[in-house]
Amino acid sequence: MKVLLAEKAGFCYGVRRSIDIAFKALNNKDSSNVCSLGPLIHNPQMVEKLKEQGLEVVEELEKIDHNTVLIIRSHGVHPETLKRAQKIARKVIDATCPFVKKAQHLTQFLYDEDYLIYIVGEAEHPEVLALQGFACEQAKVVASASEIKAINKKSKIGIIAQTTQNPKNLAEVSKALSTVTKELRVFNTICNATLLRQKSALKLASTVDIMIVLGGKNSANTSRLAVLCKQIKETTHHIETADELKKSWFKGGEIVGITAGASTPDWIIEETVLRLKKWFNN
Ligand code: SF4
Repeated sequence: MKVLLAEKAGFCYGVRRSIDIAFKALNNKDSSNVCSLGPLIHNPQMVEKLKEQGLEVVEELEKIDHNTVLIIRSHGVHPETLKRAQKIARKVIDATCPFVKKAQHLTQFLYDEDYLIYIVGEAEHPEVLALQGFACEQAKVVASASEIKAINKKSKIGIIAQTTQNPKNLAEVSKALSTVTKELRVFNTICNATLLRQKSALKLASTVDIMIVLGGKNSANTSRLAVLCKQIKETTHHIETADELKKSWFKGGEIVGITAGASTPDWIIEETVLRLKKWFNN
C-alpha cells in the first residue's frame, strides 16, 4: 500500500503561531496561571496536550483573576472583551492571527469612514462576532448574496470577508451590492490557507483508492475537507487519531491519501502515516 500526503495539510500559519505563543507562555517561569479564552484550536487532542502542560480553557472572563495570563486565540475577540480582559488579567497575550487582525482594522476603517458595512461570513462564528465589534455592531452579516435584503440606496458600502470564505461567494455578494450603491469598497480579507488545503486534498483524492481526513470532529474546516473529499472519493474516512483506523477500509486498495485540516497537529499526521506504513510493510 502506497501512502501519499496532500501537498498542503495540517497547521496553517495562524494556528501554528498561536500554539507557539501558548508554549512560550507556559514555559515562562512567571506564568503560573495560563488560560486561553475558549479552546485555543478546534482539535481536542492538541487542547488536551496543552492542558497537560498547564493551559486551562476558560469560556468567560469572570473565571479569570489578577494572577491569570490570558491568551487570545487566533480567531480574535470583540474589542470590548479585549479591553475587559486587560483590566482583569495580569497579562493578556493576543495570539489573534495577523490576517484576522487585518480584517479587524479594515472593518474599523470602514466604520470610521461611515460606510455601510457588509461582512460575508457566518454570523455566529467567533471571528465574525469579533469583527462586528469593530463596526460597533452596525455591520450586516450575510452568508451569501441571496441573504441581501432590499436596502435604501446608500452612498457608500464596504465589504469585508470572514478569512475562511470562498472567493466565489465574496464575488457574488460584491456583484449584488454594486447595483445598490454609488461607491463600493471591497476588501478581500480571505486567507488562502483553507482553500489551498481543499485544493490539494481534492487533487489527491482523485488519484487514490482510499482517503483519510485527519482532524477534530468539532473543526468546521476539517469537516468541510471530509465532505469535499467524499464527493470525489466515496471511500473517505474522517478520523481524529490513528487509533480510529480500521484495516478493513484498505482491502483491495493500493494507494491511500492523507490530508488534515488547518488545526490538525503534525504529530497526529505523522502517527497516522507511520501506523499505515507499519501495517502494510511500506
Ligand atoms: S486560516 Fe488563515 S486567517 Fe485563519 S488562523 Fe489560519 S492563517 Fe490565520
